[in-house]
Amino acid sequence: MAKTTDSLNFIEQIIEEDIANGLDPKKLRFRFPPEPNGHLHIGHAASICLNFGLGKKYNAPVNLRFDDTNPVKEEQRYIDAIKRDIEWLGFEWDKVLFASDYFQQLYDWAVELIKEGKAYVDDQTSEEIAAQKGTPTEPGVNSPYRDRSVEENLALFERMKNGEFKEGERVLRAKIDMSHVNMHMRDPIMYRILHKTHHRTGDQWKIYPMYDWTHGESDYIESISHSICTLEFKSHRDLYNWYVDEVRDPDLLRPKQREFARRNLSYTVMSKRKLLQLVEEGHVNGWDDPRMPTISGLRRRGYSPESIINFSEAAGIAKRDNVTDIALLEFHVKDHLNKTAPRVMAVLDPIKLIITNYPEGKEEWLIAENNPEDESAGSREVPFSRELYIERADFKEEANRKFFRLTLDKEVRLKNAYIIKGESVVKDEAGNILEIHATYDPDSKSGSGTEASKRRVKGTLHWVSAKQAIPAEIRIYDRLFNDEAPDSHKDKSFLDFINPDSLVIDKKAKLEPNLATAKPGDRFQFQRLGYFVVDPDTTEDNLVFNRTVPLRDTWAKKQQK
Ligand code: ATP
Ligand code: MG
Repeated sequence: MAKTTDSLNFIEQIIEEDIANGLDPKKLRFRFPPEPNGHLHIGHAASICLNFGLGKKYNAPVNLRFDDTNPVKEEQRYIDAIKRDIEWLGFEWDKVLFASDYFQQLYDWAVELIKEGKAYVDDQTSEEIAAQKGTPTEPGVNSPYRDRSVEENLALFERMKNGEFKEGERVLRAKIDMSHVNMHMRDPIMYRILHKTHHRTGDQWKIYPMYDWTHGESDYIESISHSICTLEFKSHRDLYNWYVDEVRDPDLLRPKQREFARRNLSYTVMSKRKLLQLVEEGHVNGWDDPRMPTISGLRRRGYSPESIINFSEAAGIAKRDNVTDIALLEFHVKDHLNKTAPRVMAVLDPIKLIITNYPEGKEEWLIAENNPEDESAGSREVPFSRELYIERADFKEEANRKFFRLTLDKEVRLKNAYIIKGESVVKDEAGNILEIHATYDPDSKSGSGTEASKRRVKGTLHWVSAKQAIPAEIRIYDRLFNDEAPDSHKDKSFLDFINPDSLVIDKKAKLEPNLATAKPGDRFQFQRLGYFVVDPDTTEDNLVFNRTVPLRDTWAKKQQK
């Protein structure tokens, strides 16, 4: 069913208007243009979902174009990581393209502009050029090199290309208007000299095109109908249009730049420069550290592609800058995993529980439902025996009436198993509890239909059978920053707000034996605790899980203290 105009986001409304004004919907074409200088983050996911979402909605191709004009920062491994992340999110691009493929075409067009008297070589330093830029209220000053002859410009530009000058010695500038109200139009730089090896073109080029010159022309070459970027480029739109119109081929579709607000998220930083700093200075263990807001970090943390896409849709596309609460992201991962993740029992801080009236050596395999939210998930069997582990925090020798877990002389249910009653404890000399002794009611087995099984008891505990339990390393991850806006403080660095408890490694955990076959990337709900995923660090004899999110939001509570 067709959506009403009200439910369209404002970019879709622009496209609908263009179609209403005669744009052939078959000519719609979009692109996602990452610079391969780092991994994609949750902010990029907004742009990916928007561009590829438009592609799906209008059945239009979407190019993946690497915006690779700065050889200093770009690397092949980032290209590979970016492709992998987009594929993992489930989007399909039409073509993989590189701005560097257009270097020759861009050069030829720059020569044309010089010939038309619309570009010139400037010998000044970048400081001198900046000093002549003027201010928003005062016009700039013309460069002394602005009126060079076409012949001289052509010769110098060619020599720049041939590597005859040092970095910074000369630039090519567009000759527009030094008193233009839009400062981006005051003779912007088109080319700079860089004697650097490019990851794709090697040492072929000694000059590299600037973003504005490259981006619009790349859109134009690819016949992109709508070039969607973030708000900080709004003021570049005049220049985008100028470049496109100057090299206009009447047969090609003129691309249109439109802007939307960046996705900002609370409790994290998103700029690639800062993320790179976190990696390089060892504050995290790489780009895919589960605390990073990168797609690869979220994947390793246990986020599903659906949870990221659902989050992106819920957060929406805005015209004004704003900050999205990270709790919305956490809500969406919980929501999706609640529907899809199998339930299992795992005890993270184990204490022995002995069922004194359960026969020694006896072993039962009890039926446990895999997912109460999804009947098709079926069930499995879990072993039960005389010696179990329960969570240390699930027992208190003495407790008030609000404590619905195990205490002496009171009954609780063991999940999928029996009702038990606390009887006594065994302690060491220092008074630490070593074991809890309890009795069970043999008639109370879950699902057996007996009167005893229907008896209502207040608490239900998870547990694992000691004999069959398997050990695991559990990495308890929390937010990387303990401040809502770590990079907004004037006299402090975002690094000052790193949460020292963002990773706690727990090696005591005992898991139900069904988890022995779990593979990296498998996601589970550890009942009563949270969602966990198998980490790729897992080996034959060390099963490693990462906590994705706890079931309940402990963070809001902590902040109130
Ligand atoms: P950063 O400042 O983090 O380095 P960037 O904009 O330089 O980001 P690019 O690789 O150039 O990163 O971005 C590719 C595309 O993703 C661009 O179209 C950009 O506008 C978009 N994008 C980047 N960050 C965000 C964000 N936080 N929210 C929405 N879109 C984003
Ligand atoms: Mg960029």
